[in-house]
Amino acid sequence: MIPASFEYKKATSVQEAISMLGSEDKILAGGHSLIPAMKLRLNMPTGLVDISKIESLKEIRDNEKSISIGAGVSHATIANNPEISKHMPMISEAASMIGDIQVRNVGTIGGSIAHADPSADWPGVLLASDATVVIANAEGSREVDIDQFFTGFFETALQDNEIITHVRIPKTAANANSCYVKFVQPASRFAIVGCAAAVEKVNGSVKSIRVAFNGVGDNAYRATGIENALKDQKLSAENIGSAASHATDGIDVMDDHFASENYRSHLASVFAKRALSRL
Ligand SMILES: Cc1cc2nc3c(=O)[nH]c(=O)nc-3n(C[C@H](O)[C@H](O)[C@H](O)COP(=O)(O)OP(=O)(O)OC[C@H]3O[C@@H](n4cnc5c(N)ncnc54)[C@H](O)[C@@H]3O)c2cc1C
Repeated sequence: MIPASFEYKKATSVQEAISMLGSEDKILAGGHSLIPAMKLRLNMPTGLVDISKIESLKEIRDNEKSISIGAGVSHATIANNPEISKHMPMISEAASMIGDIQVRNVGTIGGSIAHADPSADWPGVLLASDATVVIANAEGSREVDIDQFFTGFFETALQDNEIITHVRIPKTAANANSCYVKFVQPASRFAIVGCAAAVEKVNGSVKSIRVAFNGVGDNAYRATGIENALKDQKLSAENIGSAASHATDGIDVMDDHFASENYRSHLASVFAKRALSRL
């Protein structure tokens, strides 16, 4: 449980961090995923570029039409932000359910989505929120729609020498009527199944809907089967029940020592019903 030796570099700005990154280096944020992986020697970077003291990455900005959350903002800070809770309750709920208080105080949203653990909470919740990931690189910056960000098992659209600077979440009617529910792994609190849902209703019928899962497949995904089944419908118990049966359509459901494929699929339907019934 001792990592291989590495060089430690502390950056004071995003551009400095990018210029410090060598081809075999890794960015260090909260260290809650990277350090355990290094101790197990699953990851052996030659250097770590510490971005945890870059102030610009720790800002939460409340804009007119969106809220920007810096990549270095901790889960606990997000959980306790009143504007986030007002405009996008699923974001607050997810943040408050991550790990324990120590993990929430140190782990960051940027580290979590860069790591892209299939059982982590942020990927599903950000998919449901229609977020945009803003990334800095040597040329400047680029934006990636969250629907294009998670590309596979622990894989994302991030390129080498790129740093996530923030995620931007729109203040939509759907995000104001959203929630996150999860079935937790009792030791780590990671999601065995997590379901995030955001629904805009007009005259009682669904005008727009985004439903996403983490913990179920190789990477977080949107449950388009559920979304299509409920579009323009009332959220009645019957409609929700029948839509929830599409929770894992087209997904290669994980099977591990925490939950079999069948049990996980069943949980996905149950948690979809729970989330949608609240909205
Ligand atoms: C005991 C325990 C319980 C946990 N429970 C949960 C849980 O219930 N739910 C959950 O979702 N998570 C959970 N986690 C994970 C935790 O949320 C971490 O915060 C998260 O996985 C990684 O964030 P970090 O800031 O620690 O990133 P780090 O570990 O520092 O980095 C993770 C990876 O992301 C890269 N990276 C970091 N920041 C950036 C950036 N800005 N741009 C580009 N790349 C970057 C790093 O190079 C590294 O590859 C748990 C962790 C522990 C140790």
